[in-house]
Amino acid sequence: MRFLELAKFFEKIEKISSKLEKTRLLALFLKEVDESELKEIVYLIRGRVFPDYVQKELGIATQLMIKAISKVSGFSEEEVEEIYKEEGDLGLAAEKCLAKRKQVVLFKKPITVKDVYKNLAKLPEISGEGAIDRKLAIISEILSNAEPIEARYIVRIILNELRIGVAEGIIRDAIALAFLPNLAKEKAIELVDYAWNILSDFGEVALIAKKQGEEGLRKVKPVVGRPLQPMLGIAVNSIDEVLKRHKKVIVEFKYDGMRMAIHKKGSKVWIFSRRLEDVTKQFPDVVKAVNESIIANECIVEGEGWPIDKKTGKPLPFQKLSQRVQRKYDIEKMAEEIPVKLNLFDVIYVDGQLLINKPLIERIKILEKIIKKTEHVAIAERIISSDIKEIEEFYHKALSLNQEGIMLKNPEAPYIFGRHVGGWYKIKPTMETLDLVIVAAEWGEGKRSKWLTSYYLAVRDADTGELLTCGKVSTGLSEEEYENMTQMLKPLIIKEEGKHALIKPKIVVEVSYQEIQKSPTYDSGYALRFPRIKRIRVDKSVEEADTLDRLENLYKLQGKAA
Ligand code: AMP
Repeated sequence: MRFLELAKFFEKIEKISSKLEKTRLLALFLKEVDESELKEIVYLIRGRVFPDYVQKELGIATQLMIKAISKVSGFSEEEVEEIYKEEGDLGLAAEKCLAKRKQVVLFKKPITVKDVYKNLAKLPEISGEGAIDRKLAIISEILSNAEPIEARYIVRIILNELRIGVAEGIIRDAIALAFLPNLAKEKAIELVDYAWNILSDFGEVALIAKKQGEEGLRKVKPVVGRPLQPMLGIAVNSIDEVLKRHKKVIVEFKYDGMRMAIHKKGSKVWIFSRRLEDVTKQFPDVVKAVNESIIANECIVEGEGWPIDKKTGKPLPFQKLSQRVQRKYDIEKMAEEIPVKLNLFDVIYVDGQLLINKPLIERIKILEKIIKKTEHVAIAERIISSDIKEIEEFYHKALSLNQEGIMLKNPEAPYIFGRHVGGWYKIKPTMETLDLVIVAAEWGEGKRSKWLTSYYLAVRDADTGELLTCGKVSTGLSEEEYENMTQMLKPLIIKEEGKHALIKPKIVVEVSYQEIQKSPTYDSGYALRFPRIKRIRVDKSVEEADTLDRLENLYKLQGKAA
């Protein structure tokens, strides 16, 4: 396929706001795509070059992109920057520059999707001396052959900001609509979702759906060494609420750390975070501890790794663990200073056997059989109870040991991959917090004028990926943290006007608040009253920020829905 065709499709779908219409168009488009390039095209529609679980970065900063645009268009870098400021989008700026190209192109040849894909896929492999120049040469070559509209989308994809309003929900539904015409809509979507949760790769899911249909998708199996979408809990306000639904529950400590999915094959161990990042290199101590503790040869287990105070056995602040995740050097030394304790709570796969359809209570029995308790690895502390008093006592015990709260789990629940599923409930003492994306910021006043001190927060529309503002926060950080936050946000500034800075959405913060109100001020239609930053969620990506649905639900839970 010519890239021009894909670019025109992007342009068409970008303009449509109805989710249903977007889905319909995307399904029609996918149907027409040849099998040989379906995977690549699905990745590009996601605004990426690789499947979600692959963490390769293209490594092209805005400045380098400006250089490339300047090189192929003949505009000076300053001129490109000027147009970028006017447009607020480097893709549009590239389109404009190429349309008014000052340089004559002698041998422009039409580019195909495969050309673009092949070249972009090379970028992460380029490193070492002269890497920047070689990267510049590759993008310049693609751009020099591109039509202006193609340049718009190539630039956006490279910078990871395709912004055509097509997120997971729409891709999933479109694959279902395109390739499973014989199934009822809901069933088809459920099946695509199932396969996606296991493979974390919409390209592969689309290809299986196209080639093998329903049967192929049903046969999809986890791959040891490839991360899976984790099962998550629903926030509830009381133990009672859960006991009304399930007579008896498994109650576990909710440890205050980081979700770790542990994959093991012989002595090879992978650790994946909840956002599917491979963090194995960061935790050599956990790899070693897992090898000493897990008896099974091949397995996928899940637990929470938390930073432990060697003297008291209580958790260290969560930030300590973040330091370990971010650290790129002296990793062994960090492991000594901030040891991690791993409490395992589930098992998905053992030695050839997929366990997801077994009830939790049975999975736990299997987990107990394959784990040898050691200093750093143990099974999560738990009771099985139907007695509210007993559960409350357990809750207080968790809190007195400085853990976050408790998880209540239906003993009969299968393991369900993905995000919003039943069977697990979480209870924490504070009012539920929200994980929100910073989309804009303001410079402070007086002695704080060197820092960005107010942050505009946004929830995510799960279908379109659009970020909708819901408040502005300027409390919760110490002076040192303002400094740090400013350092993190500065490179993400897209555009500045007076005190106001538009920020590229990258940073997720956990925010507490007193109340959610309806408000016309913000895009989401809601505003947080007295928001306060609790912490920066380095472990969460923008795709994992809280959704508009959750904000609406929390609003309704306040008993205020009109
Ligand atoms: P939240 O981060 O508030 O959405 O809560 C869900 C997270 O709690 C999971 O992703 C785990 O990282 C963590 N967690 C801690 N202890 C447990 C447990 N016993 N069972 C399940 N999740 C747990």
